[in-house]
Amino acid sequence: MKKARRSSDWGFPRWRGYEGAREAAPVRLCDRYGCEEKGDCPAPKAPNSPDRWYFCQAHAAEYNARWDYFEGLDKAEREGRAKAERRENSGYAEAQHYGWAGSGDGSRTADEMRALELLGLEADADIGAVKKAFRERAKIVHPDVRPGDEEAARSFQALSLAYEVLKQAEERREWKG
Ligand SMILES: [Zn+2]
Repeated sequence: MKKARRSSDWGFPRWRGYEGAREAAPVRLCDRYGCEEKGDCPAPKAPNSPDRWYFCQAHAAEYNARWDYFEGLDKAEREGRAKAERRENSGYAEAQHYGWAGSGDGSRTADEMRALELLGLEADADIGAVKKAFRERAKIVHPDVRPGDEEAARSFQALSLAYEVLKQAEERREWKG
């Protein structure tokens, strides 16, 4: 009984609206096979589905008693939460990866490793590979190609910075001989 009340407030917002107009309501019959009553009680066919059965009050009550609509909603909610948690965890894993990469193979700084990651390169990439990767990626987000696109502009800046970091690192190494 308590559950049916909740249903009329939550899952079936039009339920009570139909009450007053019931006598004038046209001929839609209850969807329950063989029932000749008027079907003026909408019931969702699945959680979050816009599809509705239309039952008489007796069969709507029977339908609701058999299938716990709210349990379905809770399950969907649980699944949504699990997904959000996985996203957070993968973000954390990525941050850890950056921290780890800092020491790398010993010859790359954390900044260089981040720059290489941004360019999709491994730690042993040489300056030729860096130039090639930068050119390939930068031309896609270049302000001349994507004018007024702020996201592209940020990507272009990040790529340019990454390239600059790696180029300077290369020059330092050459200088040291
Ligand atoms: Zn019926």
